[in-house]
Amino acid sequence: MAFDIDMIKAVYERYPERIAAARKTVNKPLTLSEKILYTHLWDGDANKEFTRGGSYVDFAPDRVAMQDATAQMALLQFMQAGKDKVAVPSTAHADHLIQAKLGATKDLQESLNKNNEVFNFLSSVCNKYGIGFWKPGAGIIHQVVLENYAFPGGMMIGTDSHTVNAGGLGMVAIGVGGADAVDVMAGMPWELKFPKLIGVKLTGELNGWTASKDVILKVAGILTVKGGTGCIVEYFGEGAKSLSATGKGTICNMGAEIGATTSTFGYDDSMRRYLKATGRADVVELADQVAEHLTGDDEVYAEPEKYFDQVIEINLSELMPHVNGPFTPDLATPIDKLGEVAKKEGWPLDIEWGLIGSCTNSSYEDLTRAVSIAKQAVDKKLKTKSDFGINPGSEQVRYTAERDGLLKTFEDLDATIFTNACGPCIGQWDRAGSEKEEKNTIIHSFNRNFSKRADGNPNTHAFVTSPELVAAMAIAGRLDFNPLTDTLTNADGEEIKLDPPTGTELPAEGFDVEDNGYQEPAKDGSDVDVVVKDDSERLQILTPFEAWDGENITGMKLLIKAFGKCTTDHISMAGPWLRYRGHLDNISNNCLIGAVNAFGKATNEVVNQLTGEKGEVPATARAYKAAGIPSIVVGDHNYGEGSSREHAAMEPRHLGVMAVIVKSFARIHETNLKKQGMLGLTFANEADYDKIKEDDTFNFLDLNEFAPNKQITLELVHADGSKEEIKLNHTYNEQQIEWFKAGSALNLIRRKANA
Ligand code: SF4
Repeated sequence: MAFDIDMIKAVYERYPERIAAARKTVNKPLTLSEKILYTHLWDGDANKEFTRGGSYVDFAPDRVAMQDATAQMALLQFMQAGKDKVAVPSTAHADHLIQAKLGATKDLQESLNKNNEVFNFLSSVCNKYGIGFWKPGAGIIHQVVLENYAFPGGMMIGTDSHTVNAGGLGMVAIGVGGADAVDVMAGMPWELKFPKLIGVKLTGELNGWTASKDVILKVAGILTVKGGTGCIVEYFGEGAKSLSATGKGTICNMGAEIGATTSTFGYDDSMRRYLKATGRADVVELADQVAEHLTGDDEVYAEPEKYFDQVIEINLSELMPHVNGPFTPDLATPIDKLGEVAKKEGWPLDIEWGLIGSCTNSSYEDLTRAVSIAKQAVDKKLKTKSDFGINPGSEQVRYTAERDGLLKTFEDLDATIFTNACGPCIGQWDRAGSEKEEKNTIIHSFNRNFSKRADGNPNTHAFVTSPELVAAMAIAGRLDFNPLTDTLTNADGEEIKLDPPTGTELPAEGFDVEDNGYQEPAKDGSDVDVVVKDDSERLQILTPFEAWDGENITGMKLLIKAFGKCTTDHISMAGPWLRYRGHLDNISNNCLIGAVNAFGKATNEVVNQLTGEKGEVPATARAYKAAGIPSIVVGDHNYGEGSSREHAAMEPRHLGVMAVIVKSFARIHETNLKKQGMLGLTFANEADYDKIKEDDTFNFLDLNEFAPNKQITLELVHADGSKEEIKLNHTYNEQQIEWFKAGSALNLIRRKANA
């Protein structure tokens, strides 16, 4: 079920009719993004018009992808849904948990030793529920998806923000939290605010040292890290057609760095070539039959200002190679200015490491362009001044690159070939000396360069650029080296100027692989046991949350009144806690430890009302729970902003919190609370936040009449016995109230599945 040509056929079959209906509805030519959205409406009714940036719309994605760190909780939840199989083709990929240190073979073995329990769980749960599993070493999720599953005009979601990479093959592919993936795998609709649209017109053609990466580095410089928020970025024009499919993937991939919902390109010959080269001529045959629907209408691209909310134009012929950073991917500097800016800013000029890899730039083409530089260095007796490391994107890329001599050339230049995995891109890099936190510079072909991201050192200045420029800069070892104009001195004292890179879009002899690392799930998984040890500290089978008894909840204590910003990171921290992402009880020990207590302004320090003593938030919550006393959390504005991490809702629920009452919610977190069977409520009068005292007791007075659009009354009983009532608003619809009644959305799904 992981690759399903019948599913793709069914998607294309509905295209003509739905697009005709959508065209009639909006009464104007359509962008590609609109075509994909309208053909994936949950109810199939394309006769409705939606407001860009306004309407919340239910969609039916075609497939789901998950990476190992996020898949754990997603699949533990899916196990609660009472389903035998996933409702749409889905895959899980073991790529985030593999560290880079000594080289692929040793690192992979070390990772298996450390994480085998998690990998075995993922393998067995995937096998049971019809989910394709890509084993450790098989490759990075988004490269594997592009090679195997992405298809023009499709819609997918994935539990990773760079799911957007699949836009390189003309998809609308969106990164989500695990709870959203569970909904889609369980056959429920998936909700998204109808995006605004940014059009990027590409003219001209890449040449010299400029690569696809430079398009998005330039766009990031224009739009900044927030400029794409709530938008789909659609690329078009002759320049777009001249780019390879993997180059398009690179551009879409880093759409995540400008906050875009996703990015995409229209179906063209580059996609045909890539699909055929990766064994999917059958997809090309189907796509060609609806090709006119798999790109935006001509009128849209002729007068983009009329149809997009914002339009950017870039002439590829004039585009300079860029190097973005440090510390943020939108600080874009053209290579001819880099030395000057670096000196002015005091960035360390010596480059200590050059790294090629990540889902952004680890395709066969990427490696060939970088190797064309590496080969010149080997032939002309140059050596790398920086350390040099490569993470191929997939086993198929690695095997083919080895067969074609690419890896040998890198190794001749003393590069270390790391595992086909995320490695340094996600901080899984055991970099010698990083604990000294010395100021230093590294350059890489990844997408993100936030402080500490690669090696945990806050003083590492990380710069993002194309793989070929990484290779050149690693050879030069200097940030003020411009390969377009400067020379290097070789072992014989000769001045060497590097020629511009040359690359091969697709391997001349085709892709090859011996064992791609894929595990096909069992056709009937009913006999498959899911492996989770009772005493595991990393994994825990979930116990369904209790259903509501229909009575007013009373006698509640305040767990914490959060002051100011309280993001999902404050509620459920990352860092070392990532280790417990699959164990709800253990990870609950980080519950709200980053939130600032309004009483005393300390973090992770609240008064336990049962003892009068100060304690940590998770321990206090556990004390209330053990005493059978429900608790509440109070918060400020935009509570739960940040990520769609479902742990931020599950942990308080697990620890006995019944209601989160705030001035306002970040919408995704509010939905996550609802899904986990909690009350997410807002003060009808914001000033009532100030009425909440540390030692109050709280009683709902009319929760037993819980209904849409009806306020809820909360009684505050102060320590002196005085009482006051406040009104609370909510946004629960009938369905969401059913989730609350059942104890969680999953409980309801399971009940229906068993009915
Ligand atoms: Fe995320 Fe980096 Fe892995 Fe890509 S390579 S999926 S950006 S961690």
